[in-house]
Amino acid sequence: MSERAAREELARLRREAARRRARRTQPPSSPSDHPGAWRVEPEIHALDLDDGRIDPDAAKVVRRLIRHGFEAYLVGGCVRDLLLGRSPKDFDVATSARPDDVRSLFRNSRIIGRRFRLVHVLFGAGRVIETATFRRNPQPQRNGNGEDLLIRRDNVFGDAHEDAARRDFTINGLFYDLDRKRVLDWVGGMPDIERRAIHTIGDPFVRFSEDPVRILRAIRFCARLDLGMSPDVYDAIVQCRGTLAMAARPRLFEEILRLLRGGAAHRSVWLAWETGVLDVLLPELATFLSDEREEASVAWRLLSEVDRSDVANRSQDDIVLWTALLLEPMREACLEARDRVDAVAEFLEPIVDRLNVPRRIADAMRRIVALLPRLEAGRPGRFAHTQLYPHAAEVLALSRAARGMRGDGEEAAVTADRVPHFATQRRRRKRTRRV
Ligand code: ATP
Ligand code: MG
Repeated sequence: MSERAAREELARLRREAARRRARRTQPPSSPSDHPGAWRVEPEIHALDLDDGRIDPDAAKVVRRLIRHGFEAYLVGGCVRDLLLGRSPKDFDVATSARPDDVRSLFRNSRIIGRRFRLVHVLFGAGRVIETATFRRNPQPQRNGNGEDLLIRRDNVFGDAHEDAARRDFTINGLFYDLDRKRVLDWVGGMPDIERRAIHTIGDPFVRFSEDPVRILRAIRFCARLDLGMSPDVYDAIVQCRGTLAMAARPRLFEEILRLLRGGAAHRSVWLAWETGVLDVLLPELATFLSDEREEASVAWRLLSEVDRSDVANRSQDDIVLWTALLLEPMREACLEARDRVDAVAEFLEPIVDRLNVPRRIADAMRRIVALLPRLEAGRPGRFAHTQLYPHAAEVLALSRAARGMRGDGEEAAVTADRVPHFATQRRRRKRTRRV
């Protein structure tokens, strides 16, 4: 989508979102609309989460805050993952204590962030417990027409229930009270955990317009946690996907990497492609994947191989992930090119610009793809002594596996489980009906 088309689309979406807000004359069903007026009493679920699964450092932070008279809970992704029976990646704490209070309670801590100040409490082996003061969903800044929903400031302190309401999805808005062993639910997250469903807190259309990056988060949680997406969230993603063109580019770059990590790259990219999100972020890849040719299946299988390597605990470098994502279209760009480096550079230029891909990564991708024929022929030469070589070797291994080749380059039988089941389904072009 061109910049102009994206702006027009955004203006249209904002008008629509403003209309939706104005139309609400009933008591607020969306906590994000009326943070202060929303339900203050949570649903309480007595639940004894196994202490052994809770990070002792996070528990230490919560307990010390409570001992000093503050409210403090485990929140967000860690509560969600514990309830879904998964191991949380990290543990976050939300508290009524202000950043300076937290800082003075923990000598091993530092305040970070300019937009919203958080405290990182530091423990051994580089472990960090992010401790944030309760905040409320800021009222979006309005332009002259009162239509702008995009949130640009996010730094207003609030109460626990407001902090729950400002979060993105109901499953991410649960608070765990460690000592009383209970989950506090202001947002209807527990039923969604049980149903394994993704719902935004409030109107998905409004929430995605406020922060389009939430679209990518919805895709990530669906794909990684194997959850179902409610139809209203799906439809809002399809309708709001154009707003991603206006999101902060470094956030987009990071979120795409997060889609590729965690063993659900194939599913994530498939969802992004199917909803038309990929057409906005990486139209070069979206078009390539829509093709019926064998090369498109190889691109899908590459993503499955990225997932396999993740499951096998071979966590890949950013360079490897980005190269694997775009490898097949980059190869295509090199076909019949006299200079492969130039051909890849030309292919990558608009992507680097659109997604703020750091130069370091783009240069590495160019070099790897340019040298791939030599690597495939087993003639790496002096390149084998460079720092980039291990990454290139990973890309080669993934590529060989995706093409059904053995490590030595010989063809191996493609096993049934290599065939991407998502890619074989027909793409539902739902968005063409709705937009
Ligand atoms: P992961 O396990 O991948 O880290 P997470 O849910 O913990 O998933 P984080 O990015 O670490 O994701 O964010 C922590 C919490 O902060 C989320 O669970 C959610 O409650 C809230 N959050 C993060 N990003 C947003 C956003 N863009 N809008 C609203 N709430 C958000
Ligand atoms: Mg997290």
